[in-house]
This record gives sequence, structure tokens and C-alpha cells, in this order.
Amino acid sequence: MTTSEARRYQNLRAHLGYLKLNDAAEHLNSVLDAARRDGLSLTAALERLLEIEVEATEARRLASRLRFACLPGPWTIADFDFAAQPGVDENLVRDLATLRFLDDAANVLFVGPPGVGKTMLATALARGAADAGARVYFTTAADLAAKCHKAALEGRWNTCMRFFAGPKLLVIDELGYLPLPGDGASALFQVINQRYLKSSTILTTNVGIADWAGAFGDATVAAAMLDRLLHRATVVGIDGPSYRLRAHQNTADTLRAAAGHRAGLGGTHAS
Ligand code: ADP
Ligand code: MG
Repeated sequence: MTTSEARRYQNLRAHLGYLKLNDAAEHLNSVLDAARRDGLSLTAALERLLEIEVEATEARRLASRLRFACLPGPWTIADFDFAAQPGVDENLVRDLATLRFLDDAANVLFVGPPGVGKTMLATALARGAADAGARVYFTTAADLAAKCHKAALEGRWNTCMRFFAGPKLLVIDELGYLPLPGDGASALFQVINQRYLKSSTILTTNVGIADWAGAFGDATVAAAMLDRLLHRATVVGIDGPSYRLRAHQNTADTLRAAAGHRAGLGGTHAS
């Protein structure tokens, strides 16, 4: 490298640093080496350098979206074993995984008993949305109610409502497992209402839609909430075996088999 070339290199590195293109700055040397070695055109070398910066920026933004999202697990749709859950409509779930529902600000309801994969599927859809660049937030119904309640006590109600209006996709998990405390049902209604027709909400519940009035204690609020939620929604009923219990069943079978085997070795018959 001649002196003026070296100065030019230092200037270029400093410019990249000044513009906060730190990954490009870091890789400048290796890209220039590669360009020289492989005889890359100027355009090709610049393309390679900026590609490095763009990829690093995308990875940083995704990591930050995922931190914000508070997803309860790493699941994607690919992790869901459809064969193990005959109670779910695979085509319907695969269609939801295209995330078209986000463009329509449509909602998704997963309804079914415990252990059938409601939380996993909701999380997988949310993960897909975050991967695609959407702002996502995951909460349980009980946590949402508690946050709103605390905000009301501290005079931050409006800020709290804005927070829940913000995400492109909001997941509200486990509605109906526990009765919502005090003003919980009305907080939930306000969150649903302000998102209505603007952005999508995924809700999971073990309470069949016909029984919502009972679960909320207030039939009017339940009806108003269902009205907003279902106006533009896909309802995924999962009425299959519990995956959790299936795992327990396998453990139980293994233990039983082992016990039988040991008993067999001892010369007695396992019952
Ligand atoms: P729910 O929310 O309906 O109670 P979860 O989504 O929490 O059920 O599922 C219970 C557990 O079983 C989780 O660990 C989940 O990852 C797993 N699971 C459920 N269904 C499936 C499935 N079809 N394939 C793979 N794992 C599953
Ligand atoms: Mg769950």
C-alpha cells in the first residue's frame, strides 16, 4: 500500500465509523483483500461490503424485536407435530402461518382444553411475525389485567393503553384459566376494542365461545368483546389429545415396562 492509499483506507474506515456502519468498517480490510484477490469489480466489492452491514443490522433489529416480544419459547410452526395432534386443522394453521391475517388486522382464536398446543401455535405465529419484521408482544390475560390495574393505580392508564395498542400483533394467552381480577375484564375489553380493525390479536382460551359470558361474570362485556374479536377472525378449535399428558403417558409406560422387566429378571411375574 502506498502512503496515499493507506491514508485513503484510513479515511474510508473513519467515514464508515462516523456513519455508524461499524460492521462494514470492521470488514473493510477483508473485503478489499477479497476484491483484490478475486478481481472483484468496484460494484461487486461495494455490494459485498454493504451486504455485511445490512445483514448485521437486520440481525440486530430481529434480536431487539424478539427481546421486546417476550415469547415464552423458541417454537416455530416447523416444531409443531401435526401428526401428534389430529384435533387441529393443519391447512388452516399453515394458512395462518403465511401471516396474511396481519394485513387484514384479523384476529385468531385458539380454543381448546389444556395441553393441546394453543400456546405453542400462538407463539410460533408470533415468532413468524417477528421474523417478518412486525412488532409483536406476548402476554397472558392475567398479566395484562395486572399491568392495567397497576397502571390505573399509578395514573398511567393512557400510557398503558397505548402500549397495548402499539404492537402489530398482540398475543393474549390463557384467557379463562383464572377469573380476571376486579377490573380485568373491562381492561381486556378496552385493549381489544382499541385494536379492533387496526391490528391483529391472537387469543388462546380453554373456554368455549358459548361459555364466555359465564367466564367473565359479565355477559355484556363478554358479548361486546366477542363481537370485536370475532368480526374478522379465524377460530382454531383444537379438540384433540393433550400433548403434555401424552408425554406423561410415555413416561408412565416406560416406567411400567422397566418395572416389569426388573420383576421378570427376579423370576416373578409383573402384574
Ligand atoms: P396449551 O397452551 O394448549 O395448554 P401448550 O402449547 O403449552 O398447550 O403445549 C404443551 C406442551 O406440549 C408444550 O411444551 C408444547 O411445546 C408441547 N406440544 C403441544 N402440542 C404439540 C405438538 N403437536 N407438537 C409438538 N409439541 C407440542
Ligand atoms: Mg397454554
